[in-house]
Amino acid sequence: MAGSDAGHIEIDVAVVGAGPAGRWLATLLVRRGVDVAIFDPGPKARWPNTYGVWSDEIEELEIPVALRRSWPQADVVLDLSSPQQVVLEREYCRIDNDAFQGSLDDRLDDGGARWIEAKVIDVEHQDRWSSLTFVGGEGGDEETIRARIVVDASGGAAGLLEYVGEEAVAFQTAFGVEADFDGDPLEGRQMVLMDYRAPCGERDENSPPTFLYGMHLGGDRYFVEETVLVAPGAVDFDELRRTLEHRLDRLGVSILETHEEEFCKIPMGGALPSLEQRVLGFGAAAGLVHPATGYQMARMLRAGAPLADTIAEGLEGGLSPEQIARAGWQILWSDQLRRAHLLLLFGRDVLAGFDREEISQFFEVFFSLPGQSWRQYMSGETGHREMSGIMLRLFADAENSLRWALARRALGDGRRVGKALLPGAMATRRHS
Ligand SMILES: Cc1cc2nc3c(=O)[nH]c(=O)nc-3n(C[C@H](O)[C@H](O)[C@H](O)COP(=O)(O)OP(=O)(O)OC[C@H]3O[C@@H](n4cnc5c(N)ncnc54)[C@H](O)[C@@H]3O)c2cc1C
Repeated sequence: MAGSDAGHIEIDVAVVGAGPAGRWLATLLVRRGVDVAIFDPGPKARWPNTYGVWSDEIEELEIPVALRRSWPQADVVLDLSSPQQVVLEREYCRIDNDAFQGSLDDRLDDGGARWIEAKVIDVEHQDRWSSLTFVGGEGGDEETIRARIVVDASGGAAGLLEYVGEEAVAFQTAFGVEADFDGDPLEGRQMVLMDYRAPCGERDENSPPTFLYGMHLGGDRYFVEETVLVAPGAVDFDELRRTLEHRLDRLGVSILETHEEEFCKIPMGGALPSLEQRVLGFGAAAGLVHPATGYQMARMLRAGAPLADTIAEGLEGGLSPEQIARAGWQILWSDQLRRAHLLLLFGRDVLAGFDREEISQFFEVFFSLPGQSWRQYMSGETGHREMSGIMLRLFADAENSLRWALARRALGDGRRVGKALLPGAMATRRHS
């Protein structure tokens, strides 16, 4: 598409970051005939994270996601003194990073995408194009390129986006290991979404509670991860490693051979991007991480096609970069979703303030809601009306002690809840 009437414009879309979000959007754009350049200091580096998603959320994508393994159900252990479990009859799967990344790369190469091994450091806008400054390699020279549209998919690291409001970030932290074991660390389960039984008594009482997340990968191989769902600050990885070791000791299970370790720190919540800016965002940079669960992949993968359509059609139709960016931001952050985001931030802070007993009570009620409700809550694609309905239902179903704990926090957080639910209350100030 770039070229003919573009004069000095070198590319249609510059995608900053070759993580899942950048690669996915770039692939969808290339399929729509858009001329794309992808910037990343390590464009061929393997995605390091273990990505789990609910199978039904990625079923209808236009490019299939390669899966390493799937499990017909996910188990949740909430009774703190017994291994009794809640069975979630919903297929869960793990993405095969190598295969998925490879399939996107083949499509990008076939579609003529340009790879630029460089770190983007700045962007400046003119009327019809933006000038992107980047540096390739250690001590490399600064170079620039002109693009009609710039998408920041850097996970937030490139700093090209402006965010609105003052919301603080909280963190999910986890230490995980994929290894061969001499016994079964999941006690016969195949996929454990959360096991909240305390692994040891020696952790500081003020430390946020951890749970075990784990998957059986076949034979002796398992992935197990000690996780803090959400806390105001990141938790020390060594502490999480020790807690996991203690858990394994108590089960009488040892690691025979470690294949990979995962150090997971996911910023959750925080301010949302301004919808009036010229740079578009995607993935974690665009605030797509669910504030209360840390999930992002499914929402990002599903948002890719409508966003790519908007960009491709806007370019084809001769819209200005500003018009295209605004339309793109609306796809990601409609008013309904921004309001729901405030409710999820409230939910996040409730969870971050709960002790182990309260969390386990909370999830017992949460997972006894109709399946549709907890799925909607976790999807990140649910508007504020449905979201408030789900939260009210949870409140109504809760035991008195949990209800009281929730009510106390809702009263303390009236500003956010009111802003989410009152018409016209979302007018925002911009800051960077
Ligand atoms: C350990 C871990 C496990 C996770 N597990 C799950 C999960 O199971 N399910 C789920 O839904 N979500 C999960 N998440 C949350 C989320 O899905 C991931 O963070 C996901 O990787 C975000 O994708 P992204 O492409 O937006 O950003 P990233 O994966 O962070 O990719 C950003 C890319 O941008 C590049 N970059 C950075 N700065 C620049 C720059 N200045 N110029 C050019 N390129 C730049 C980086 O090199 C990188 O390649 C997990 C997160 C972590 C950290």
